[in-house]
Amino acid sequence: MITRTVSYRGRFAPSPSGPLHFGSLVAATGSFLEARTRHGEWLLRMEDVDAPRCSAAAAGEILRTLEVCGFAWDGEVVWQSRRAEAYAAALERLKQAGRVFACACSRKELADSAIAPDGAAIYPGTCRPGLPPGRTARAWRLRVGDARIEFDDAIQGRIASDLGSEAGDFILLRADGLFAYQLAVVVDDGDAGITDVVRGADLLASTARQIFLQQCLGLPTPRYAHLPVAVNAAGEKLSKQTRAAAVDLARPGPTLCAALEFLGQKPPAELRGATVAELWTWAVANWRLDRVPRGPALPGGIIRPGIEPLA
Ligand code: GLU
Repeated sequence: MITRTVSYRGRFAPSPSGPLHFGSLVAATGSFLEARTRHGEWLLRMEDVDAPRCSAAAAGEILRTLEVCGFAWDGEVVWQSRRAEAYAAALERLKQAGRVFACACSRKELADSAIAPDGAAIYPGTCRPGLPPGRTARAWRLRVGDARIEFDDAIQGRIASDLGSEAGDFILLRADGLFAYQLAVVVDDGDAGITDVVRGADLLASTARQIFLQQCLGLPTPRYAHLPVAVNAAGEKLSKQTRAAAVDLARPGPTLCAALEFLGQKPPAELRGATVAELWTWAVANWRLDRVPRGPALPGGIIRPGIEPLA
C-alpha cells in the first residue's frame, strides 16, 4: 500500500487478455500525459483478476510494448491476481455492514432479466431478502437500493446514473470464486491512493457502480476523465475481441503519433519520423486535456499517409 500523499496519482490498468492494441494505447497515452503534465505519478496495474481470460504471456507482451513505446511507470507493477486477500477483506467489511447478500441464482435463472445499458443483466432481486430455502450461495451481490450517483467527468461532462434501474445489485464475488472487476478496481484504486482515473469511455457505464462501491467502503472518489474509445468502421470498439492489430513494436512512433492525433493533439508532420523520446518530449510540452474530443466513441486506428493501418 502506498501511503505518501501526492496531489496527483494516476494509473493505467490493462487487462492482459491479449496484446496491447490501439484502443489501450490511447488510454495509456492519455492517462500518462495527464499524470506527467500534472507533475503526478503514473502507476501500472495488471488487471488479471479474471484469470481464465488472462495470460502471463499477454501480460509480458503488454509490458514489453509499453517499454518499447517509452512509457515509464512509477513503482512496481500491481497484479490483481496477487491481491485476493485485499478483495476478500473488503467483501468481509461489506458483509459486516449488511451491504451485500448471497445469491443462488444461475445464469439460466436470470436469462429473462432486464438488460442494463452495458449489456449486463439487471438483477431481479430474487435472493435479496435472503436465500430461498434449500438453495446455496453461488455469488455475492452488492445492494444498490435506489442509489443515484452523479459525477463530473473532465471530458464527458456531468453524468448521472440511477443504479437500481441501470445496473441493479451487481456481483462482487462470482459463482466461479473469482472477485469481480468492479470490486477489484475500487479496492486497488483505493489502496494505491489514486486521485485521477483517465481511461476509455467504454468504462463510463461502470463508473457509477464504482463510485457507489467506494462510498460503501468509505473510500475517496477519484476525479474521472473518460477518453473517447476508438471504434472500427462497423462502430465496434477496437479490442482483442474485434481482433484489433497489436502495436507494431518495430515502429512504435507512427502508432504513438496516431494515438496523439486521436486524442485531439496535433503533433507536427515532422514528428512522423521522430523517435519515441522526441515524440514524448513534444507530447509532454504540448498535451492539453481540453483538446480531447468529447463523445464516447470515434473512428480510430485511422490510416494516414505514412501511418500503417492498425485495424
Ligand atoms: N482493465 C480495464 C480494461 O483494460 C481498465 C480498467 C480501468 O481502467 O479502470 O479495459
